[in-house]
Amino acid sequence: MRTVAIGVENLCVPCGCRCRYCLLSYDGRPVGVDYERGKQFTEHFFGELERTRPELPRFYYIGYCMETPMLTDYIRFCQSIGSPSGEFLQLNGLAMREEEAADRLMERLAAVGIKTIDTTFYGQREYHDRFAGRQGDFDLLLRLLGSAGRAGIRRRVSLPIIRENMAQAQALLETLDGYSVEEYFAFLPHCKGRGWALNSQRLTRPEFDALPAPVRARFSPQVAYRSEEEWLRLGEWPRPESRTLTLSLTPENIGRLEQMPAEQIAAMLEDLDDRYSAAVPPPSELAARYEDPAGQRMYRQRDLLLEWRRRYLLDSGDDVPDLDDERGSFSVRN
Ligand code: SF4
Repeated sequence: MRTVAIGVENLCVPCGCRCRYCLLSYDGRPVGVDYERGKQFTEHFFGELERTRPELPRFYYIGYCMETPMLTDYIRFCQSIGSPSGEFLQLNGLAMREEEAADRLMERLAAVGIKTIDTTFYGQREYHDRFAGRQGDFDLLLRLLGSAGRAGIRRRVSLPIIRENMAQAQALLETLDGYSVEEYFAFLPHCKGRGWALNSQRLTRPEFDALPAPVRARFSPQVAYRSEEEWLRLGEWPRPESRTLTLSLTPENIGRLEQMPAEQIAAMLEDLDDRYSAAVPPPSELAARYEDPAGQRMYRQRDLLLEWRRRYLLDSGDDVPDLDDERGSFSVRN
């Protein structure tokens, strides 16, 4: 399998939210390492990779949120290594701010070179706040959208659609349209992190088809959603040919990583992914074990496979790190 990019994540910044659907399963305790130490390691790691694998794109990001006094330093660092986070930030989970403070933040972000921000809305005010785990979060996000617009930063709004919130989506869009949002990205949440807890919330084919036209229009035409039954009937399971690898920094691994040559770290990630790929059966075998031939729940093909692979790892008890789990080092195959 061809490795097409390598990145580093450092989940070192506490998040102000506690969302029910959190890809990273944030539970109030950051799992990353000290910001400066993570940056120094990454600078060294990428510097060495530049010599040994100059063709390989590299990226770096911190999480869980962007509420850190090191934000400007982080953006400049990302710009210096050509990482997309030098221009794009996901801004859920920030500390509460009134409009003036939000304006100042966005002006600072625009001045340092941020071109686009993303915010995720889970539904209308009351539902969103409950989902995000704090009161006032919906209004904070609206203030951020307004401030970003005034600072000339492009706004993207992500809209995870589930059974519980689908009836709210059209009214939510009407509220957001008042902010002249430049881009929407509606999607059916995938099965990572706490996304598993929402599996029963996955829309069925009839529910998906009944979404109001303005909501359907916010789904990307490039992303195919089908019911499980439809994916099974199609029966095409393209073999992934490339992978993007992400190294997650933790207090447990950082000391060892600092002693390792970059090439050895890259090889270790590739070996982990090879072991994972060898341990998990191909899609046709997974389908034979787990398929629901009449399944009406809607998936991206990637997400249906994620669900089957996870079930397989749980059932088999194989001692293989789950390389789909973004709480540790992980890989994304295409
Ligand atoms: S804002 Fe993001 S990182 Fe924080 S709890 Fe919500 S989904 Fe998780």
